[in-house]
Formats: sequence, structure tokens, C-alpha cells
Amino acid sequence: MKKAARKRKAAKKKVESKPDGPCYYCGKETFSLAGDPGEWPVMLPHADDPGKVKPHHVKCILSRLNAFDRLTKDNSNILLRIVNGAMRSCIEAHGDITKEWIGSASKRIDTMIRGFLKNEFKVNGNGDE
Ligand SMILES: [Zn+2]
Repeated sequence: MKKAARKRKAAKKKVESKPDGPCYYCGKETFSLAGDPGEWPVMLPHADDPGKVKPHHVKCILSRLNAFDRLTKDNSNILLRIVNGAMRSCIEAHGDITKEWIGSASKRIDTMIRGFLKNEFKVNGNGDE
């Protein structure tokens, strides 16, 4: 291979392998030249750092939109199932739920909803934000 051809190939490889910054949601690198469109970056600002745009994977944004759509559909019973499971857990732990156990029941509901949301928003095994 001629020297110029090698140089062009090396330059092309360098451009293709350059990441566009870590995803705001999952922390893994985004790549605007990736073959998988889910890896492409979408630049968006966040309330925690106003005016500054940060990269997000297309797949991470879609995952959150899908989870939101699932939760807000009129025929979705996801929240009912979560609350039902939390109440059942509280009853199993304390017996019948009285005013005394409202705090415990609320904590269980809160924990289960947070667990559901973290699981829904998990992308490639990394849901930490
Ligand atoms: Zn991501």
C-alpha cells in the first residue's frame, strides 16, 4: 500500500473511532458515525446545568420515552400493579394496614415505583445516572 493510501486509511479510522462524549444518562460514549443509530448523540440541555448541551444516546432517549408512554397510557395498569404489590408487601410485614402503617406502606410504594423506573430506564445494563 502506498504511503498516501495508508495515511488516508489511518485518518479515516481516527475520525470513525472518535467518540462524541459520554451519554448523560448511561455514561457510555456516543458515536455520531456508529453503524447503530441508537449510539448516535442527541445534544440536549438539562435543568441541572442550564444552557449547556450534553450528548445523549438516541437509544437512551427512546427508552425513556417508551417508559413514559407505557406509564401514561390510559389502559396501563403498571402503577396499579406496583401499588398493589407494595400494599401486599406491607400487609405481609405488619398485618392489616391501619393509620399507624401508612408511612411504611408509602415507603414501600415509593421504593417499588423507583425500582420500576430505574429498571425501565436501564440501557445496556447501566441505569445509574
Ligand atoms: Zn446512553
